[in-house]
Amino acid sequence: MMTKKLFIDGAWVDGSEGKTFQSINPATGEVIAEVAEATVDDARRAIAAAKKSFYETREWRDMDSQVRGDMLLKIADAIEANKDELARLDAIDMGKPLREAECDIDDGIHCYRYYASLIKAPYGGCYDVNSGFGQMHSYTVHEPVGVCAEITPWNYPFLMGAWKMAPSLAAGNSIVFKPATVCVLSNIKMFEIFEECGLPKGVVNLVMGPGGTIGDELAGNKDVDMVTFTGSTEVGQSIMRQAANNVKKVGLELGGKSPNVIFADADLDGAVEWAMVGIFFNQGEVCSAGSRIIIEESIHDEFVKRLAKKANAMTIGNPLDNPDMGAMVSESHMNKVLAYIEKGKAEGATLVCGGERYTEGECAKGCFIRPTIFDNCTPDMTIVKEEIFGPVVTIQTFKTEEEAIAMANDTPYGLAGAVFTADGTRALRVIKEIRAGITWINCYNPTFNEAPWGGYKMSGIGRELGVHGLEEYQEVKQININLTPGVLGWYEH
Ligand code: NAD
Repeated sequence: MMTKKLFIDGAWVDGSEGKTFQSINPATGEVIAEVAEATVDDARRAIAAAKKSFYETREWRDMDSQVRGDMLLKIADAIEANKDELARLDAIDMGKPLREAECDIDDGIHCYRYYASLIKAPYGGCYDVNSGFGQMHSYTVHEPVGVCAEITPWNYPFLMGAWKMAPSLAAGNSIVFKPATVCVLSNIKMFEIFEECGLPKGVVNLVMGPGGTIGDELAGNKDVDMVTFTGSTEVGQSIMRQAANNVKKVGLELGGKSPNVIFADADLDGAVEWAMVGIFFNQGEVCSAGSRIIIEESIHDEFVKRLAKKANAMTIGNPLDNPDMGAMVSESHMNKVLAYIEKGKAEGATLVCGGERYTEGECAKGCFIRPTIFDNCTPDMTIVKEEIFGPVVTIQTFKTEEEAIAMANDTPYGLAGAVFTADGTRALRVIKEIRAGITWINCYNPTFNEAPWGGYKMSGIGRELGVHGLEEYQEVKQININLTPGVLGWYEH
């Protein structure tokens, strides 16, 4: 069993109270690691180290951006060299199939490479202005925000870290990072990589432990200039309240209950397979999951028949054996998802397949749930309204385009959504009406480092990835230059 520590001010340390917590493999129930638990004091020490590195030592912040870019490339190469280990850690820690974990690490490598090159691209602008005060040039520069607290969820343990750390480091910030307690291992390895690559002391700090204490401190502490958070809407709301302490910058990537709208003229088999990707990839533990299928009435029966056939054929098992679906992240999360399934049955939805824990063979020891489809769902049902964050999809039918759009938008969330149709004009018309930040036409879930990621409504504030993802971690400064210096003549007497 591994023993792991916190990384504060360039050193691996125990928590100040000497407490530890266990990391458990949800597929087998085995304890994989004993991890040092940070206290609020440890979080404060990490913040102080980040603050010193940003405001006093300034080595990273003032580094030539070419050199900082080269350092990010070196980090990307080191991740690549450790790819097998990182993917294996996410698979055993989180429960996702190994091949999916490998994709996450590849995406993370490209994320570091993308931001390494982006900081060398031109940015900002220069404006030739005449304001009534004479000829001036006004131009903008981007500067790092300062000390960034970064809090991530457990569903993409490595990748959610990369989405925050790559752009914030590229911009020259110093960071305190807190991964979800239930899945910390790949990020501990990531910090070993940072150390090995020679990031200056205090620039990256890792604290692990309960969100309610150390996460809360990171969000509220006045020495933190920005808090960026990916997780549930409920915790996001608390972070926003805490951040008000010093009006720190806030980035929030929150939950979703995303619609997948399928019209009768869509390629049916294609729509079925993408709908599977939309809801069963990563065991449905995906913020953007297409958890509400909204289908045109005339193809409903055939679609449900084909979807159920494919869902029933899915293999479930140990993530390292590369099944179609792995384990839920933990016993408590599995029980939460099972409770939603019971609620769906009790509220009158028609269970088409799944609907229970999967306990065949070796899986009896782990946290597995069969892919679950509920048909004949209505807007008032809990399973239609709330984010389940598991392999559970609801099906509703529509007759007209207007009805489909209204159903799609009938949610306080606005993270993602998709439309399947052979009619290109309709696809664009419907997508335009869907109030969500990430949308797909005739596909579901592909994500790119170049394209901004984030939600409308209660799914968040700000964007990760792409140029927007770098700008989140930058302040914009306006510099105005008087081209005709001298007496203004405003106060003549
Ligand atoms: P969570 O909100 O329970 O926890 C997320 C992180 O916040 C963890 O590190 C946790 O320790 C910490 N935390 C908990 N309480 C806190 C507090 N009071 N103050 C500060 N930090 C606190 O979410 P989760 O269960 O880890 O992840 C699932 C949720 O994340 C889902 O709602 C999912 O939709 C969302 N998510 C969103 C995106 C996105 O890009 N929008 C991506 C992945 C996951």
